[in-house]
Amino acid sequence: MTLSRRTLLGTAAAAAGLSKAALAQKPLPASRPVAVSSSNGLRAVAEAVKRMQAGQDPLDSAIAGVNIVEDDPNDMTVGYGGVPNEECVVQLDACVMHGPTARAGAVASLEGVKNPSRVAKLVMESTDHVLLVGPGARHFATMNGFPVENLLTEKARKVWLFWKQNLSDKDKWLEPDPEHYDPDVKAFIDEFGWDEFRKPQRGGTIHLSAVDARGDLAGCTSTSGLFFKMPGRVGDSPIIGAGCFTDNEVGSAGSTGRGEANILVSGGHLTVEFMRQGKHPRDACLMTLERIARTTREKRLLSAPGKPNFSIAFYAVNKQGQYGGASMYALGDTGKRRQFAVADASGARKEETAFLFEGRI
Ligand code: ASP
Repeated sequence: MTLSRRTLLGTAAAAAGLSKAALAQKPLPASRPVAVSSSNGLRAVAEAVKRMQAGQDPLDSAIAGVNIVEDDPNDMTVGYGGVPNEECVVQLDACVMHGPTARAGAVASLEGVKNPSRVAKLVMESTDHVLLVGPGARHFATMNGFPVENLLTEKARKVWLFWKQNLSDKDKWLEPDPEHYDPDVKAFIDEFGWDEFRKPQRGGTIHLSAVDARGDLAGCTSTSGLFFKMPGRVGDSPIIGAGCFTDNEVGSAGSTGRGEANILVSGGHLTVEFMRQGKHPRDACLMTLERIARTTREKRLLSAPGKPNFSIAFYAVNKQGQYGGASMYALGDTGKRRQFAVADASGARKEETAFLFEGRI
């Protein structure tokens, strides 16, 4: 079933208190170049637009923006300093897609290389393949001169240890005394919330989509994946068509949040297809979320029928430079309105996402 904008407003909106105000907003006239990203990408979108304004390729610009977040140990959801997997190993996923040449590259479960987005670009440019994983991806990176580094920061190690100690009262690990929590662990709990910290689907990512002054498009997604994931688990971020998809005739889109849900609807591709049908990027993102809500059937993933109990968001830009972001729930972990980052001729800023459901998970 294809949902028209009217149908969408009439169904998901009625059922879910969809942000009609957001949908009713008249799209502003577009100005290119534009970069749109998840909320952790404020510096990334600024960098990407600065480079596109200087005439650089949209993918190089997108990757340069994403590299800032990958290099930042304070962002514990991407690159260096990312929260490790179940066995305390940082495994990174990333993909890139270049509109003008309709090519893509990706890496998954890559260990020891802090800029997986740059390795993904090299997979695209210098191999016949699209996706390299695990030791193969690492070998490829090493052979191409990427240094192998320890990506596990002290803070991430302590957070992992705290998680492990609190995992079960039936194992041999004793729970730490709440009076003497490590300050790094306390800061992490303050940022994500104690319950959030322990949720199986807690994670984070950066997705960035860009359109340059000529209307050429690119997308890039990079992540350390879900916190404490199973070794070898690969989410949506490196999957072309899920974590990112770019079509130079239409637009570019990508996602953050529960990757398993996105993979099942090929959300990046679906969002671009909605834009191809003429939908505004924000509405296209909402329609993909609506599809996820409608096709999530497992009880363990629902808080009520048709209401997923996980967070997920999409970000998109079209060839004209219109952009949007939408999340499943209006509010984030801390109870604040969810936001995305965008940069254009008026500078870099955060804007509130449209949403499918009021409140928080
Ligand atoms: N999408 C990421 C993944 O599934 C995680 C996230 O963005 O929270 O690996």
